[in-house]
Amino acid sequence: MSPQTRSSRRREYWLREGDINARLHFRKSSGAKRVLATIICGEVWLSIPSKWSESKGYAGLVGEFRAEVVKALERQREYIDRDDAICLWGNLVPYRIVAAPRKSYSFVDGVLVISGPSGDAEKMIDEVRRKEVVAAAAPLVEKWANIMGMRVPSIKTQGSFRAVAQYNRRDHVVKFSTILTRMDRDMIEFFVLHELCHYFHFNHSAAFYNTFAKYMPDHREWRKRFISYCK
Ligand SMILES: [Zn+2]
Repeated sequence: MSPQTRSSRRREYWLREGDINARLHFRKSSGAKRVLATIICGEVWLSIPSKWSESKGYAGLVGEFRAEVVKALERQREYIDRDDAICLWGNLVPYRIVAAPRKSYSFVDGVLVISGPSGDAEKMIDEVRRKEVVAAAAPLVEKWANIMGMRVPSIKTQGSFRAVAQYNRRDHVVKFSTILTRMDRDMIEFFVLHELCHYFHFNHSAAFYNTFAKYMPDHREWRKRFISYCK
């Protein structure tokens, strides 16, 4: 069975095998000698050697590491979306798409009902994830910015896990990846704090970790929890 293409322009592929149905994200990396796969919550991120040419096509590339990735994904089944249910905040939530002129979503008897005009389920689910991650992050960003004595940063979202979270000092913006919506909801506090510590420290120096530990003394335990989502 060969991998199927959704969109090569966005550098995204879908790997399907049995009931495994996972999105692959590609990134060229100058450091990569061969294809390296990182898997978080059923999403696959691939670092590929920068000299690799796109004209060769992704299919051959996927073949190189396919077996390894499928094995890792089998251990992460609980995070992989199905045709009728998505992984949301650590649970598999059944969903339904309803045609409507305006976009909205709600939970009705444990079912996620997504309404909108587009009919593109993938896009609608992505929008739900973006709204959910903002709703979860916003009160925490505000709370911790106040405690740490800074102006409350703005919040943006990004797809995939290019970075799970990212602080942009120039614009004073924290970006959160939709991948967070696959983890337990309380995990987000760890990332909020980590990013806000970057307001004071550019890198992951000892000083950074001192600040982190001041506000979150058990941050190493949280880190371990995050690692448990990665294979
Ligand atoms: Zn950092």
